[in-house]
Amino acid sequence: MTSPTDVEFARELDRQDELAGFREAFVIDNPELIYLDGNSLGRLPKRTVERLRVVVEQEWGGRLVRGWNDGWFESPQRVGAKIAKLIGAEPDEVIVCDSTSVNLFKLVLATLQTHPDRRQVVSDELNFPSDLYVLQSVLRLVGPEYRLDLVRSADGMSISTDAVRSTVTSGTALVALSHVTFKSGFLYNMAAVTDLVHNAGSLVLWDLCHSIGVVPIDLKAAWVDLAVGCTYKYLNGGPGSPAFIYVRRNLQDQLTNPIWGWFGRRSQFEFGLDYEAAPGVRRFQTGTPPILSLAAVEPGLDLLLEAGVNRVRAKSLRQTEYLIDLWEQLLAPLGVTLNSPRNPAQRGSHVSLGHTEGLRVARLLIEEMQVIPDFRYPDNIRFGISPLYTSFVEIREALVRFQRVLAERIYEKYPLDHPAVT
Ligand SMILES: *Cc1c(COP(=O)(O)O)cnc(C)c1O
Repeated sequence: MTSPTDVEFARELDRQDELAGFREAFVIDNPELIYLDGNSLGRLPKRTVERLRVVVEQEWGGRLVRGWNDGWFESPQRVGAKIAKLIGAEPDEVIVCDSTSVNLFKLVLATLQTHPDRRQVVSDELNFPSDLYVLQSVLRLVGPEYRLDLVRSADGMSISTDAVRSTVTSGTALVALSHVTFKSGFLYNMAAVTDLVHNAGSLVLWDLCHSIGVVPIDLKAAWVDLAVGCTYKYLNGGPGSPAFIYVRRNLQDQLTNPIWGWFGRRSQFEFGLDYEAAPGVRRFQTGTPPILSLAAVEPGLDLLLEAGVNRVRAKSLRQTEYLIDLWEQLLAPLGVTLNSPRNPAQRGSHVSLGHTEGLRVARLLIEEMQVIPDFRYPDNIRFGISPLYTSFVEIREALVRFQRVLAERIYEKYPLDHPAVT
């Protein structure tokens, strides 16, 4: 038996990996580059290159405005139906539109307007800042009698279900949480939290940005009310690709999209002077969908549906477990902390490792060591594992290089300032 730190050990894990072949489906022009930021921007699927060529040259270039009748018009729902398969929803419960932040805004305001007797919104302090800004902006619009309460984290890494329970009250209109938190990668127990929210007579909204495509999600089994998520992380839809919105079928006609536009109107091509909401999930659209970036979303989704999310999750767990084993042997002795939950049932697909020199270490890894993680304040280096293309050998190599940078203090040559985007 070799030790987990030996390259032969990692190679054997890759040989046993039934999903290894999917790596071939992605554009990897520099095989030396270890990309561990698929939780921020997924890699480019080869099929997407071909698909975009067809959409640009034949559909836009050749068909021009007739493209709307050749499939563009329905594409937000067609792609939404594929997303539905990944999250345990019905095809008519999901539509692709706008960005996650904007979709969150629409659903939060819609919920507050439908339940004006309830004046509290609950989230947590580990949530993605954009989500919190959106909640703050909605509360500013609805008035000073509303308040946002953030559930606190006892360990800076996770949120206990009991802490959520004790924050939710009979005045809670909505509990809006990220299924997997962006910094520590903490994974909520969606079913348990959704139940306790429902017991208080309130609605729940899950942001699936960091879980879709890598954690099995069953919105129907948990009877989730509302959800949003992006398509450019583990779905590999490309930078700025449009987001999705899920509204459980029986709620669709109770909620009104607060941003009225022609794509959310009943019979939009009648061009009536007054807004009437379209039936079903289409009412949550507003304006014209971004057809090019929407087209880029579909090939990545097809790859995930072929691989199967359960198999992706099984590999993700093996890989995060392996990364943590390596951390324990190579990095913990050098003062690196594990800033993600140790319990696999509470972990998404990225692992945060903490070091006081994290910023300079991350910069060095990116600029000189051909390893791309990312950095989140104050000290987290995030290693995102995207099982369709991340190999065990890459994980080992990244941590070996991380160890070298620390042991030899190579990072000290950098000043203590920081680049704008990491
Ligand atoms: C990535 C991410 C977003 C991104 O929102 P955009 O509107 O696409 O910028 C929002 N919420 C969470 C939890 C995320 O991880």
